[in-house]
Amino acid sequence: MAKLYFKFGAMDSSKTANALMTRFNYMEKGKKVWLIKPATDNRDGTTILKSRIGLQAEADVIAATDSIIERCPEGIDVIICDECQFLTPEQVDDLRVIVSEKHIPVLCFGLRADFQTHLFPGSRRLFELADSITEIKSICRCGAKATVNARFDEKGYVCVDGDQVVIGGNDVYEGVCWSCWHDMVVNHKSRYE
Ligand SMILES: [Zn+2]
Repeated sequence: MAKLYFKFGAMDSSKTANALMTRFNYMEKGKKVWLIKPATDNRDGTTILKSRIGLQAEADVIAATDSIIERCPEGIDVIICDECQFLTPEQVDDLRVIVSEKHIPVLCFGLRADFQTHLFPGSRRLFELADSITEIKSICRCGAKATVNARFDEKGYVCVDGDQVVIGGNDVYEGVCWSCWHDMVVNHKSRYE
């Protein structure tokens, strides 16, 4: 039976690499993969999904106003979505319909929460609707499990307010444990200290 999968992790937890390896596994078995990513993430141009270990592939970009049901191509065997935290709740509902009515498995990779530790709307809807929820684990600089996607300013101080979506890489974000994040916030420590 097809399932809706949500595989979440913090920044630097190799989510994109996992998504691209999963795509490769399906393609090796002769399966047609529809690789998608929401439009909000434009770090690597408009269509290229790129992992830090060098894997990359071209994805179809889904705008926030798009219906995924309408855009879904005929004849595909699986849908893989990276940066799924940026899907709208309605688009996650679309994926749920595709899984259950077209019997196409959907694998979503993305962040659980934003830089203020609050769920992204797309991730919230995936927690509500997914059949399978798994964590892609990574570690904080202290060795504990990273759970918070800390955002830093140019001097290395933790950002405590701002827009939920600010696109950036390792220069702006770091996956850290809650204790290290809290310590940097309340004691106003720079990540470079
Ligand atoms: Zn830590």
